[in-house]
Amino acid sequence: MERTEIESLGEFGLINHLTQNNETVQASTLLSVGDDAAVIDQFGKQTVISTDMLVEGIHFDMMYTPLKHLGYKAVAVNVSDICAMMATPTHITMSIAFSNRFSVEALSEFYEGVYAACNKYNVDLIGGDTTSSQKGFVISVTAIGEVTNNQFVCRNGAKENDLICATGDLGAAYIGLQILEREKRIFLENPTIQPSLQEKEHVIGKILKPEARLDVVEWLIENKITPTAMMDISDGLSSDILHICRQSNVGCLIYDEKLPIHSQTKEMAMEFGLSGTSCALNGGEDYELLFTIPQSDYDKIVLSEKISVIGYITTAEESYQLITKQGNKHKLVAQGWSAF
Ligand code: ADP
Ligand code: MG
Repeated sequence: MERTEIESLGEFGLINHLTQNNETVQASTLLSVGDDAAVIDQFGKQTVISTDMLVEGIHFDMMYTPLKHLGYKAVAVNVSDICAMMATPTHITMSIAFSNRFSVEALSEFYEGVYAACNKYNVDLIGGDTTSSQKGFVISVTAIGEVTNNQFVCRNGAKENDLICATGDLGAAYIGLQILEREKRIFLENPTIQPSLQEKEHVIGKILKPEARLDVVEWLIENKITPTAMMDISDGLSSDILHICRQSNVGCLIYDEKLPIHSQTKEMAMEFGLSGTSCALNGGEDYELLFTIPQSDYDKIVLSEKISVIGYITTAEESYQLITKQGNKHKLVAQGWSAF
């Protein structure tokens, strides 16, 4: 593959190279890349803003993360935060810092993923920043979304007897990461051995190219279901449900047998001497939505295959509990992912 040094383009040349084909689709984008700031029209709605940073060596490993996937993921995880407010993502900014290890081609590949995600979620890239780092790749994305006045959903509205719902399946990204780490160790010991990733597409896909559940947000809006509380699952279900419970001042009861776990996750968990349940509870980076709804919405929710009811909200005194398949109660503890 060709390698063009960043120096040959310079900062402005690089920004121009990365953004020359940038197209905007949102009517609210009045001014995009190229000025001191972008300008967004509001049309009388409320704006939701979230920002997240991804750091090489902490959040991703360049040994097994294709740059295109990384660009996609950097956008998707930020869009996920906007979705978790029941808002519609509209714009992102993308800031990057990289060492001289990176070429123009490498960054262009990263931006292919960025644009693929922008396209998928219908968001406009409207700016960013570009700088160098001594070591490693640092990515900071800010996502902006819009919501009809006062229709955003916080973490603090869960009420006793509300149903707890989760989208998609849980624990797959964690197992996918374990597989990639294992293959990396094998490769480092013997570089001639090719990684065996066949029949692991689902779990590998969940870690390398997660999707924000904008589809679910749109479905909820269409079906006039307003969750009482919502967040995205990024640190692991047990840690994230506790955020909703603490902020809503309630307890919860989760049924082990109701946890949505993909068959590939269960199979691979066994190989690692883990249970599917512990992956679903304590693994991170699922980027699925976790939300609560009044019981009266149950009939509507069951119509969606994308949503599982996994338990219900109790009083704070009843604490945070998991009911095992045998009917035993365990206290849920946050063992989720932490960067520190
Ligand atoms: P300033 O000096 O005002 O910070 P820059 O020279 O950093 O401006 O950026 C010029 C324009 O390019 C701005 O519109 C900025 O938002 C945009 N930009 C800079 N880096 C990136 C990037 N990595 N991706 C997308 N847009 C970028
Ligand atoms: Mg700048």
